[in-house]
Formats: sequence, structure tokens, C-alpha cells
Amino acid sequence: MMIQDYFNSDPLAPYYNLNGLTDVVLTCDIDWAPEYAIADVLELVESYGYKISFFATHKSELLLEQSESFEVGIHPDFTRQKSNYSFEDKIVRLLEIYPDSLGTRSHRNFFGQNISDMAKAAGLKYEASVFLWNESFCKTHIDYNSMVRFSYMWEDGIHLDTNTPREVSTINLNTPGMKILNIHPILIYLNAETDDQRREVTKRYSDLTKAPYNELKQFVNKGYGIKSFYTEILDYLKSQNVQTHLLKDLAGIKLSEIKLQQNVA
Ligand SMILES: [Zn+2]
Repeated sequence: MMIQDYFNSDPLAPYYNLNGLTDVVLTCDIDWAPEYAIADVLELVESYGYKISFFATHKSELLLEQSESFEVGIHPDFTRQKSNYSFEDKIVRLLEIYPDSLGTRSHRNFFGQNISDMAKAAGLKYEASVFLWNESFCKTHIDYNSMVRFSYMWEDGIHLDTNTPREVSTINLNTPGMKILNIHPILIYLNAETDDQRREVTKRYSDLTKAPYNELKQFVNKGYGIKSFYTEILDYLKSQNVQTHLLKDLAGIKLSEIKLQQNVA
């Protein structure tokens, strides 16, 4: 059997790069980044003609705009021990800002069956909190709630934290599998060399969303940093004629599997 044969019944098989690298998903957790840092990411990705799925922690005017090149899922933070809001409240409040959201990814990947049930009840169709660092073969599945579950395999801050050489070849892009690559606007904006550099800057602000442009600008690394590396990744994808997709679109394709199974039954 050929590897393709194992995925005959999976409508996402064309996105699993079974015949070499053809398809990638770019995502971005905005993590309370100020507006200009989010704009910086969007401008970079759009300059390649690529699409990106944002996951939002807060209200961004830019992300309220309608665009073919991005979608907005929610990025609730369930990690704070002291909070005035229940888990449900956190989901509902973000969905009030972004009523068109179809997906969620939890901040710091904090996700469990209780949150899955709440996300389902709130009408969300997909979930992307599982992080499988540099896993060579990620796939997608439909869970017991009929939610589509995506795993992502690369992230900017983890690449720095693990001291992985900043070479595109260190990322498992040329194996089969779903390739979901995640970034954070503040890290990209600062073009940081280490995630600690980013932490040094962000700890100055109790509300990072309001960090003044003229202040933050001074901390932008002019040497080779994570934005330089991310740009090299995008250059590589472009050189290989790779297509990008929004997670909501892939989730829609995956959900057609349920209908197919129902028709067979
Ligand atoms: Zn986050």
C-alpha cells in the first residue's frame, strides 16, 4: 500500500503533504499585543499572498475587519487562578467581540473536556490547542463532540526557548502531515533573539495592548531575530509554491466526513 491509501476516507488528505510539501496553515495567537504589532504580522503575511488564522485574547479593531486573508478564532486565558470570570464567561465574552469565530485555541494550551463541552455549547466548530512540537506527522480528527481537533507543530517562542538553530531545515516541513505554524505578534514585532528578551520588554506593561508605539519601537532588534527567521520560513514556503489555508476552511472540509459517513450508514 502507498501512504495515500491509508487516508482515502479523510477529506483533509490533500492537506497532509503526502507527496511532498504543498500545504501549510499559518496561525497567530495575539496574546494582548498592541494593534501595530498585529498589523505588522498581517502585513508581512499578506505580502506573500498568504492567509493566517488569528486567535484573539482581546478586542482588536484591525481584526474586526472582514478579509479574505484572515479569520479570527478566540484565545481564552484559563490559566489565571484569580479571575472574576468563569471559564464559560471567558468564552462568551470573546465571542461577543468576534461573533463569527468558528474556532478556539486556549492560551498556554490549557484545554480539557470541560472546556471542550463549553466550546461546543457556544457553537464553535474546531479547536487547535494541542501543541506537538516538531512532530513529523500531525493529522486532524473529529472528537466525541463532533468538533474538529487540530494539532500545531511549530511555534516561534518554543523554537527560541529550545535553542533550536534558526534554520528552516530544523522544522519537520518535509515529512507528511498537517503543518500548522504558530507565531505571536509581540515576539515578531520585537524581532527578539530570545523569548526572555520579549519577557524583559513586556513585563514593563500591566496592559500590553496599550504599550505606546514610540516606546516599544525602541526595543525592536535590528539584528537577526525571530522575525528574520520567520521571514526565511515564508520565503522557503513561497519558493516551494506552498499554499496556505484558514483553519475554519479546513474544519469545514473535515466535517464533511461526518456527512459522508451518515450517507453510507
Ligand atoms: Zn497565548
